[in-house]
Amino acid sequence: MKLTFHPLDLKLKHTFQIARETRTIQNNVIVLLQDNGEVIGLGEAAPTSYFGEDVNSVSSVLAQSADLLNQSDPFQVEDITNRLKNEFPKSAAARASIDIALHDIIGKKLKIPLYRLLGLNKPESKITSFTIGIDTPEKMGKKVEEAKDFPILKIKVGFKDDIEILRELRKMTTAVFRVDANTGWTPDEAIKKLNLMEDLGVELVEQPFPVGSIESLRQIRRHVKIPVFVDEDIKDSKDIPAFSDAVDGINIKLMKCGGIREALRMIYTARAHGLKIMIGCNIESSVSITAAAHLTSLVDYIDLDGHLLVTNDPYRGATVDKGKLTLPDGNGLGAGARSGVPLPSM
Ligand code: MG
Repeated sequence: MKLTFHPLDLKLKHTFQIARETRTIQNNVIVLLQDNGEVIGLGEAAPTSYFGEDVNSVSSVLAQSADLLNQSDPFQVEDITNRLKNEFPKSAAARASIDIALHDIIGKKLKIPLYRLLGLNKPESKITSFTIGIDTPEKMGKKVEEAKDFPILKIKVGFKDDIEILRELRKMTTAVFRVDANTGWTPDEAIKKLNLMEDLGVELVEQPFPVGSIESLRQIRRHVKIPVFVDEDIKDSKDIPAFSDAVDGINIKLMKCGGIREALRMIYTARAHGLKIMIGCNIESSVSITAAAHLTSLVDYIDLDGHLLVTNDPYRGATVDKGKLTLPDGNGLGAGARSGVPLPSM
């Protein structure tokens, strides 16, 4: 297989702010893998600095992976992804882009959609949450107003006046709220705020504490009824067992774990430990969002809105209408360039 890759700079509709960072552009990388025949697989890396990746590190891993891919058959996904994981253990987003492109090629060669390749039912249209980033109270209100069609909102918290802002937002909408503190709270703060949030229609909380705070997670679950999920704490399947008695669920992202193969391992591992599962995303185009959408029949909560937060997604794939996430028709991912937008050349 021949591998080529291209930068993809996604412009954000709103400056995106969470508890630890702010940005206006997301620099991703699109991968094209061409089999010896004519079939082209599409993949995407959406690196984040939090996990130590950026466009340069992704590009470097991709360049170093070209030889291995050149000598491989696309059906050897397990072997290829394991070898890449051994060689580039910290480059999950880069590895995810190759894993996604391999699955796309196989689906296209077999002329079946990815979910069928994985032995899954066609995902029914399920509701994805829509993310409201941290901003001034006025701007957060405006974002909630703009998101009035979405029945579930994921509100970024983890700052001083978050509970007051949440109260104001509650007056504006009947949407279900999920909150994500992105490591921003102390245990005392979390217990106090989450008890107040019970009356504000908050369905679950994500990553209240800095990574590794297992004892604090156990502690708040004794004092708080809202289910507690971890995201930053759990990168891949090996991280799950340590949290099995400390949380209610985990957030799986292709970019964090290295792709579809590892996401499946995480799903089975989480289920074996009795945990609930959310599938989430970074800020991504329709290419990798669609890859994740093929797995939604296996999870409890969906947070696949990354492509809705940008103004210049050149790709089409899974669509969202009033929060309902629907897969495109087509083989493999079913994603492709929007009409009038040329696919980058091989
Ligand atoms: Mg999160």
